[in-house]
Amino acid sequence: MNNLAPYAVSSSNSRGRRIMEASPDGRSEFQRDRDRIIHSTAFRRLEYKTQVFVNHEGDLFRTRLTHSLEVAQISRSIARNLFLNEDLVEAISLAHDLGHTPFGHAGQDALNACMKDYGGFEHNLQSLRVVDVLEERYAAFDGLNLCYETREGILKHVTKKYAQNLGEIGKRFLTNQQPSLEAQLANLADEVAYNNHDVDDGLRSGLITQAQLEDVALFSRHLTQIKTQHPELAGRRMIHETVRRMINTLANDLTHQSIINIKNAKLGDLADVRASPPLIGFSDGIKKEQQALKKFLRENLYTHYHVVRMSNKAKHTVERLFNIFNSDIKLLPHKYQIKARLEKQQAIADYIAGMTDRFAIKEYRRIFAIEED
Ligand code: MG
Repeated sequence: MNNLAPYAVSSSNSRGRRIMEASPDGRSEFQRDRDRIIHSTAFRRLEYKTQVFVNHEGDLFRTRLTHSLEVAQISRSIARNLFLNEDLVEAISLAHDLGHTPFGHAGQDALNACMKDYGGFEHNLQSLRVVDVLEERYAAFDGLNLCYETREGILKHVTKKYAQNLGEIGKRFLTNQQPSLEAQLANLADEVAYNNHDVDDGLRSGLITQAQLEDVALFSRHLTQIKTQHPELAGRRMIHETVRRMINTLANDLTHQSIINIKNAKLGDLADVRASPPLIGFSDGIKKEQQALKKFLRENLYTHYHVVRMSNKAKHTVERLFNIFNSDIKLLPHKYQIKARLEKQQAIADYIAGMTDRFAIKEYRRIFAIEED
């Protein structure tokens, strides 16, 4: 890849794969990682997993798949401007949600509660488990055998308790080192993506209104700008234009502030990145505005009774599935029964976490509804 900064991750400074493989023909190591992720089963399942709205609630809402594509778009454009490794940020972005349960955070919280006595459940760790262990596609190894830096980016956060058992990849959480700039970038691009698309989806669903959002600075200052420039504009098109400009403002701010941070840190190579404080970041002003937007979404969208009702159903679905499998593993499909004989609750958690929203709903009916088979 051309034009990489000396502190960017590259095929030549990579810590490599867990199982040695010959270098790919005509692709970089990180292009290969991205391609493996796109061809994985877990990636296709993202299409039917909830971001905020459950899959059957409407065709236009974001799913984990479209969310991940938006994250990849934002992180790639910024990576190019910062001379970072675009293929790596793309790979991390596309894989960052692979370990999510069905039904978004409600599903994850429920599964974590079910797993309380068996080590708990964390979706970041599960994303790593998907690419390290659970995908079964290659003759020579389990998982996707991705490069260290891709795996490091996927394991965005993990508690110290888990970090101790993860070897090399968990070390930075114990020594307070940072991951690559590419990993830092994918993490913040995730925030930019969901804050903005949740505004868009929230308005589309009618659970939040434009009038409410006019109290949120980041939204209102762009809206005011648009009303001056295009007084005739209204409806969805005005919302799209506002959200578009918000994403642009955030992405540009992230780029400019990160350039300043990187310059001040006088980075030489990748080792300097790991030893420095986080360098990819927003300016203080934008950070405050983003926090205000997050707070607004938390208070008005994520805790809206409509969302809470759906989350509650999701929680019960996950809980009841877990408990019934835990009480009798013979209810599990064959493959998982075999796994459950070795690691019972882990196998059940893997089975449930891998489900799409609609598969979980179907499986629930197959188990609990007498008329289903
Ligand atoms: Mg995400």
